[in-house]
Amino acid sequence: MRSILELSIRMDNIAQRAYTAMSRACTDTTVSEVLSQMAAEEGEHVAWWRELLEAWDNGLLPDIYADTGAIHEQMTEILASLQASIPPDGRPLSADEALSASVAIEFFMLDPVFGDLLDLAEPAIARQRHDAYSHHIERLITAVEMHYEGSTLAGFLARVLRRSWRENRALAQFATRDMLTGLSNRRAFGQRLRQWAAWSARYGRPLTVMLLDIDGFKSVNDTHGHAAGDLVLSAVARAIESTTRASDVAARYGGDEFAVLAPETGPEDARLLANRVLASVRDLEVAVGDHGGVVRPTVSIGLTVTMDRPDSDPRSTDELLASADHGMYSAKQSGRDRVSDPILLLTAG
Ligand code: GH3
Ligand code: MG
Repeated sequence: MRSILELSIRMDNIAQRAYTAMSRACTDTTVSEVLSQMAAEEGEHVAWWRELLEAWDNGLLPDIYADTGAIHEQMTEILASLQASIPPDGRPLSADEALSASVAIEFFMLDPVFGDLLDLAEPAIARQRHDAYSHHIERLITAVEMHYEGSTLAGFLARVLRRSWRENRALAQFATRDMLTGLSNRRAFGQRLRQWAAWSARYGRPLTVMLLDIDGFKSVNDTHGHAAGDLVLSAVARAIESTTRASDVAARYGGDEFAVLAPETGPEDARLLANRVLASVRDLEVAVGDHGGVVRPTVSIGLTVTMDRPDSDPRSTDELLASADHGMYSAKQSGRDRVSDPILLLTAG
């Protein structure tokens, strides 16, 4: 993982230097201006990776790669292609040469690895960075389209770059999102939970894990059909999303089960948060079918909160989820449509 982050820093450093040099050497002032902005943005990307590298060195990031060797090899190939596409220093560059080299740089850097790494930041920050990266690519695509107005080949290449970028994003969404509700999927949630469990153990900060299961959901499917069930699942997802913070992670954990992790949230705040979610689901009136049918879903919520000392060993995701599941089960047992008492996990001794 460390070597992958180091390679990312190296690549963006190379890209930054290349854009700076090309911006100076380019004889077209409009293109030169675009390249100088591209260089500044590459500097920001380097800062993102450095921040992640520091988090990794402090034991705060999960290793997201099953096969680090293969990723490393793939990135080394990208690095070589990147270096080969940069024009040599020291002579003036036409707009054509500078733009061609820039498109090549961005094309080689459009690797899903970078998107996965971006997602390791806090959700709200990760979103900002994905947006910033989109602007970065769009800036170049627009410059190519303007420079080659009327040239079908260059316009076509600009569109290829745009499409590759969008498809990359879509693939990443498939891998990390639940398609019905748009929330994180179980896999992405597990990764986030590992990351935050490490963080909270390292700094002794509270962490809340919440599991929610829709009450009597089978009967919604049985009475109104599967499509109505799907509408209810989406409505509950929106209710959860709108009551949690941008820094919380909300996921569809499976069938009619959802999970939320809330960093920096102790037992009292956890209870408040869970009660807010409970109330916002209770307020739902989901219209189903063409005959004025309405479903008013409720959920049962299990809560677990870690309150470990600084520098304790991170708790496993299995332990955290089993504990929240236990709470959810007791909420079901005691009548549904309620929040369990938070189960506290404290450092022994
Ligand atoms: P309980 O209050 O004990 O949770 O009762 P329940 O009826 O909700 O029981 P349970 O949670 O076990 O039911 C889950 C149901 O969710 C069963 C399954 O058919 C349904 N389900 C799972 N995935 C989907 C889906 O993607 N769409 C729809 N419509 N239904 C689904
Ligand atoms: Mg259920």
